[in-house]
Amino acid sequence: MTSKKAILFIIDGLGDLPTPKTPLQAAKKPNLDRLAKNGCTGLLSPLGRGVVPGSDTSHLRLLGYDPEAFYCGRGPLEALGVGMKLEEGDVAFRANFATVKNGQVVDRRAGRIPTSEARELEKYLSTKIEDVEIIFKHSVQHRGVVVFRGSGLSPMVSDTDPHGEGQVAECIPCDQIGEASKTARIVNKYMKFAIQRLSEVPENKERIRKNLPPANALLLRGAGAYKKVPSIIERFGLNSVCIAGGALYRGVATYIGMDVYMVLGDPSTGMIKLEEKVKAVENAIKNYDFIFLHVKATDNYGHDGDFKGKKETIEKIDKEIIPVLERSGAYLIITGDHSTPCSRREHSGHEVPILIYGRDERPDKVKKFDEISCMAGGLGHIEGKDVMPIILNLIGKAEKYGS
Ligand code: ZN
Ligand code: ZN
Repeated sequence: MTSKKAILFIIDGLGDLPTPKTPLQAAKKPNLDRLAKNGCTGLLSPLGRGVVPGSDTSHLRLLGYDPEAFYCGRGPLEALGVGMKLEEGDVAFRANFATVKNGQVVDRRAGRIPTSEARELEKYLSTKIEDVEIIFKHSVQHRGVVVFRGSGLSPMVSDTDPHGEGQVAECIPCDQIGEASKTARIVNKYMKFAIQRLSEVPENKERIRKNLPPANALLLRGAGAYKKVPSIIERFGLNSVCIAGGALYRGVATYIGMDVYMVLGDPSTGMIKLEEKVKAVENAIKNYDFIFLHVKATDNYGHDGDFKGKKETIEKIDKEIIPVLERSGAYLIITGDHSTPCSRREHSGHEVPILIYGRDERPDKVKKFDEISCMAGGLGHIEGKDVMPIILNLIGKAEKYGS
């Protein structure tokens, strides 16, 4: 009985500001508008009014996990997203291959090294320093993750990524506890190890011969310590699956014990074609109560200030994804994790529109799905913490509070 299933479709960075229209207002999206007309709409502040959400914290919140209690930092989520198995207390960072000359970062992305070449470097970068095992895993392009595994480590250390050009930053302990000092010391030793190792490998000699910037250093950022959290099935009884391309989103899903649907993305960007996601939804709906579906491109266009790209992505979603979701017979909850206004090129704390469609939902008078129309919607103004209780109520899995 598919009516007791739900699909949460998060269109990343969906919200925008009118210039004079928002991309959602400007887009031709008859399917989303029909769902808005027949469903119930409103505005959503994922982390509370005016709070500017990160994608990681916002997704946790929308999936029913309060980031105050459950956020473990970006590094472990990325590591889980690229398929690493983590142990309690592991400290993980996001890593970039970079080009360094005389200790100065001259290219933070090592000349946008292609995925196939960067992957060859993975084998050189796992090692042991003092009693700490260090595991490097490449993801896509110049990106990867590093996990530090051993006793007495702390995530309270600074990035070595200068976040621009400049010197490779020293990792500094952010608190006075010995664990942070130990971690910083090992990270700094590892940075030296990586530069030394990468300067010797044939792949980089080949890049220099071809006049390409060598990937001769790693820059680390976003330290976090992994901890095990109760799963979404334990907490909400939801047999659930994630369909997403980006490592972060797969990582958030893995962290909370969701299955991750294996759809192969573009090998160079990790992006998954909409057609592939559509097929995945059609399969997943047979086996799961709850599907978390994610599309990233809208956020990327927001960061690029590309209004047209964002609008056209919404049109493509409307044409290719929405009819499949509608046909599934599941409850649909469609929203964003934050606004990424093209005019700001950054996340903002403006509300995002939200739409709920399905049997037992009371239609309101709103006829279009956009930031302005949904102000008048029947859901009113909700917060991220409201989303999971709403879903559980719709599919009949909410527990009565009191007797
Ligand atoms: Zn986001
Ligand atoms: Zn973003």
